[in-house]
Order: sequence, then C-alpha cells, then structure tokens
Amino acid sequence: MLLTSLIKPILYFSISMATAQSINLENKIIPESIKKEAIEALTFFPELYDTAIEFKFKNNIRKSTMQAQPRFTSFFKSKENREYVILISRSIQIEGEKFTMDDIPSDVKVGWIGHELGHLMDYRDRTNLGMLIFGIKYLFSFKHIKEVERAADTYAIIHGMGDYIIKTKNFILDNANLSEKYKERIRRLYISPEEVMELINKNKVAEELENIEEDS
Ligand SMILES: [Zn+2]
Repeated sequence: MLLTSLIKPILYFSISMATAQSINLENKIIPESIKKEAIEALTFFPELYDTAIEFKFKNNIRKSTMQAQPRFTSFFKSKENREYVILISRSIQIEGEKFTMDDIPSDVKVGWIGHELGHLMDYRDRTNLGMLIFGIKYLFSFKHIKEVERAADTYAIIHGMGDYIIKTKNFILDNANLSEKYKERIRRLYISPEEVMELINKNKVAEELENIEEDS
C-alpha cells in the first residue's frame, strides 16, 4: 500500500522530468492549434533539443500536407546550426467537402509530424551542398523521393513512433474523403502500413537505418 502510493508519484515525476528534459521549446515556434501534437512528437526525438524548428501553416503546399525544409536564411550556417521550417497545409486534397487540419484525429497528426521530424533527422548530417543537391534530386527523381520518404518513416519508427506512423498511413489510405489521385501518389511513393508493421515486428528497422546511412 505504502509502496505503491510512493511509486506512482515518483514514476509520474520521472516521466514528466524526462519529457521536460527532452524538449526545448525556446528554439521551437509552434502554432497553438497544433502545439499538443507537435510536443508529443518532439518527445520522441531528444536529438532535436538544440535544433531550431518553426511549425508554420500555409494555405497550400504543392502535392503534400506537410513539408520539412531548412530555413533559407540559415543556409550559410554550419549544419549544426541549421534551422528548419515544417510547413503544414491548411487544407487537404479533397473531393467535394472542406477538409482541414482540425478534422484530423490527434494521433494521426502526431504521426504526420513524426514523419516530418524523421526528415529532419535525415537532413541533419547532410552538408549545405548536400542539401542543395538533395532538393534538386527530389524535384526530378521518383526513385529519390521514394528513398527519402522511406528514410523519414524509418527514422520515426526507430524513435518509437511506429504505431503513430501506421495510424497516419491508414487514415490517408482508408479515407473516402481524400482524392484517389492523392492516395495513389501515397501508395506509389511511400511505404505501406504493412511494410511498417513488418519493419517493427521483424526488428528490421535498425538494419534499414544502416542502409540509409550508408547511402547518404
Ligand atoms: Zn515526407
């Protein structure tokens, strides 16, 4: 009785301490409407403690819902001091009715943000010239897009966000309100929920990450 009543507060205290220590909000800019989800996703990435990130709503992003990119003005800074912007589209590609970020379940948004933070993990080790070449290749090569998107998911999964990633993918692929064209693009360029499951269950994610790091 005494023991359990003691353990619980200690446990809660250490969990909240761990959370507080792994996130630095001094260098993060997060709109109120997505704050809860962004913080939840950031707790999985203690490595991004010193990284400046701005989450920013935009009216329309070409072909995607969220997009992680280096801040243009930090281009001449060293990669350690590079700053990032995560753009979030206000509306989502739809057929008919209006569909916005507010209509998306919280866990799905966390997964979505987790994927974008996975991109930042991938960008971190690249030089500025490397980032430039990377950006150009992203525009012209489907093969490159597939590799990059796979890397972002892999980073998110290895950071413990596998369940969120699956939820986000299923939300998109099973959603009758999203256009078939958008879903087709997702099927073609991103790994499937089944493949994510396989990476987690067969413990293949570490191996996957090694391949990514060798390639980049
Ligand atoms: Zn992506």
